[in-house]
Amino acid sequence: MIEGSVKKELVDGQELYFLSAEAWQEVFDSGQFQNKDLPKRLIDKIKKVELPLSTKHRELVITLGFFGANREVFSYPLLRGENRYQRIYLEGVKCSNCQWIGRAGNPLVSEVYWGISNDNPSNLLMASARKKFPKINCPNCSSPFDRFFIWAGSVEERGIQMKN
Ligand SMILES: [Zn+2]
Repeated sequence: MIEGSVKKELVDGQELYFLSAEAWQEVFDSGQFQNKDLPKRLIDKIKKVELPLSTKHRELVITLGFFGANREVFSYPLLRGENRYQRIYLEGVKCSNCQWIGRAGNPLVSEVYWGISNDNPSNLLMASARKKFPKINCPNCSSPFDRFFIWAGSVEERGIQMKN
């Protein structure tokens, strides 16, 4: 790894790694992070979905971390808050009213909490996210989504209108 290209921070008691563009390129070239293989599926998701979204929306940060006894590598999308980071699961969504298509951030999905320390139980972190963040509506037409999302965006400048 290029020195200074990876920054480590403790988030919810878990070490997460913030990578520079060069460091991401190294991960993609080698298929590894800190000598651990990344599944191809994960690399594709990071490359095609997560990093393009993060480039477009600076409040969204994509990090890497480890979980489980085998220290498997996983990507952790975070929303940059004033005092802390909030983990979110990026779901593909389509607005049922205007057909906007994008990704929405859901803090209530257990896999984003894989690897956190036992001092920060995921159910408490989910409850605090639910209290702390307003539920957001469709960024294009303001219709409510049927799930608890706290962020939504797409790689397009505006929402994608799918009209015949
Ligand atoms: Zn909409």
